[in-house]
Amino acid sequence: MATYGIDLGTTYSCIARLDSNGNPEVIRNNEDDSNTVASVVFFENENNVVVGQAAKENIETDGDRVVQFVKREIGKRDMRTYEFDGKTYTPVEISALILTRLKNLVESQGGKIEDVVITVPAYFGLEERSATKQAGELAGFNVLSLVNEPTAAALSYCARQFQEDRTILVYDLGGGTFDVTVVKMSMAQNESGKDFQKINVLATGGDDRLGGKDWDDRLFDYILRVCCDENGLTAEDIEAETRQDIRSKVEEAKRKLSKKQSAKVRIDVNGSRTEINITRADFEQMTADKVAQTMNFVESTLAKVPDAVIDTVLLVGGSTYMPMIKDAVEAKFPGKVQQHDPDQAVAKGAALYASMLVVEEGGAGSDISTPTEEGSTPTETSSKAEQLTAKFIVEDQTPRSFGPGVMDMKASKPTYVLENFIKIGEKMPAVFTKTYYPMEDNQERVRLRAFENMSTEDTLIPCVDEDGNPQATDPAHNVKLLGELIVNLPPETPRDTPIKVTFKVDASGVHVEAVNTKTGEVFETFLRTESDIDVEKSAVHQLRISAD
Ligand code: ADP
Ligand code: MG
Repeated sequence: MATYGIDLGTTYSCIARLDSNGNPEVIRNNEDDSNTVASVVFFENENNVVVGQAAKENIETDGDRVVQFVKREIGKRDMRTYEFDGKTYTPVEISALILTRLKNLVESQGGKIEDVVITVPAYFGLEERSATKQAGELAGFNVLSLVNEPTAAALSYCARQFQEDRTILVYDLGGGTFDVTVVKMSMAQNESGKDFQKINVLATGGDDRLGGKDWDDRLFDYILRVCCDENGLTAEDIEAETRQDIRSKVEEAKRKLSKKQSAKVRIDVNGSRTEINITRADFEQMTADKVAQTMNFVESTLAKVPDAVIDTVLLVGGSTYMPMIKDAVEAKFPGKVQQHDPDQAVAKGAALYASMLVVEEGGAGSDISTPTEEGSTPTETSSKAEQLTAKFIVEDQTPRSFGPGVMDMKASKPTYVLENFIKIGEKMPAVFTKTYYPMEDNQERVRLRAFENMSTEDTLIPCVDEDGNPQATDPAHNVKLLGELIVNLPPETPRDTPIKVTFKVDASGVHVEAVNTKTGEVFETFLRTESDIDVEKSAVHQLRISAD
């Protein structure tokens, strides 16, 4: 069974695998005659849920039964829900419906699918990552791992052009988000002297409310205005059907303008036909400020890595098909811009990554077999995949800082603090261990809380106090309680018993472990879902920082 890479996008999703030669290929969406599936769900009635282009065609007429941009909601603490025909759907469940559509795509073409890698934006925190993984599991996948989108894009670029050390700026303009990432690809050698390529994320930036939709909206407003002017109407006079007609034509017109100098749009304005000719120059003029906005984010992201010299700029995301984008980026980075299948690069990179994982795991669950006996010939796919494993090592950055809540006894009065073990931007997987002690003799248990935040300070105020009551923190630090681990202590445990606490962070979540070094007893949990959080308010059962 092949392993698949999935780009679960805000507006479009895409699925890819390696073909028999080990090259990534996208599974076509024949129904919509496209390489991607629109990430839009239409709840037509209780028996029919539609995902993809057909769902998109109901946005203006039946908007309250259409869900789009669900990726913006996934894993948010106060996650909104959607209700249709008496059933409530979470963003995780909506995402699972989109993933199921991708699964059906593979199956309808005779493929078998189980093991997948799903991509996430580099800036996603733990909860967004967990929720994405959960959506994959709900769709029936075995989610081998998550991988950051720009890393996947860089991987698919590496597979094409294998070069010396490079610093790459990934400019990803999708439908609803804009992400800038600086990644460094460097050559290194393993113990046996074999060369491999390392991919490090150096800086990220962008805006999760800036994307192709803004270009659509400008075109929509323009066409609506012309329709009104030509027919002597005001915007309020325009019927919902006409709006839907415009809505379903703007994206097509925008795509046409990527290829041609002008596009004709025919709109049925409340029963009478209006023809509008839009030139590329007009379109570029009405959206010039949006292009400038993206370039400002490029500047501010570059400012985070003042020493970086950009060798290559990768254009990723469907919106980079617009010539105005390529022109603007080319003007800033002359001769350095590369663009290959911008709407498929992330899924293809994820497929490459998935195959690397499977090879690492010894080919389990895959038809990419690794030779077991000496002398047996590996298949072409396996040799290519092995070559890739030898070639790449992905080192991502932690998207947040993480650490436990513990009592600081050295302060003027004992204070509950968050000790930041692992800081935002550190290499991932990251591991940190520290020894703490019970507050008092004969303490029955310890509540070890794990927090996520966006600060690089060593200690912070946690978002709950020692008793679990919410408390105010600096909003810029975005402190979140991830969950807690209960460590039971045997009777008569003295207060000088060292308890060794370890945090481990990788792209899929946070692993917390506590070891009672007197008894050797290990307590551990993998924090990855909302339901992991089961924080009772209760008397203090904390760990303190220093020994007496
Ligand atoms: P996501 O935001 O989900 O990651 P994509 O990277 O596939 O999605 O980008 C989708 C956006 O790209 C949409 O706004 C779509 O209209 C736009 N797009 C796709 N093809 C073209 C094209 N040929 N010209 C202009 N825009 C395009
Ligand atoms: Mg994308």
